[in-house]
Amino acid sequence: MNEEKCEYCTGHDSKRKPLMKNSTGNYLVILNSCNYLEDSVVGNSVEYSLFGEKIRFCPMCGRPLTDRDIITEMITARKQEIKKGVNNHE
Ligand SMILES: [Zn+2]
Repeated sequence: MNEEKCEYCTGHDSKRKPLMKNSTGNYLVILNSCNYLEDSVVGNSVEYSLFGEKIRFCPMCGRPLTDRDIITEMITARKQEIKKGVNNHE
């Protein structure tokens, strides 16, 4: 494999194109700088909102997105487990 960089996951997030949009252009889905999905219907206004879904792989090249994020996620999950365990003993 060559070292060709994927614009999508290595470039600045402001250069990311919408992942999808509808024909009228009033609904679109983007990947934000923290690798979470955002869509143009922010909030809980619609059932199909993808807002806040975490993306683990670049949708364009398939590269795993930052190990650091994955580690943070693991730590968060572990903390929640510990918290749950503590609560169970109350
Ligand atoms: Zn990529």
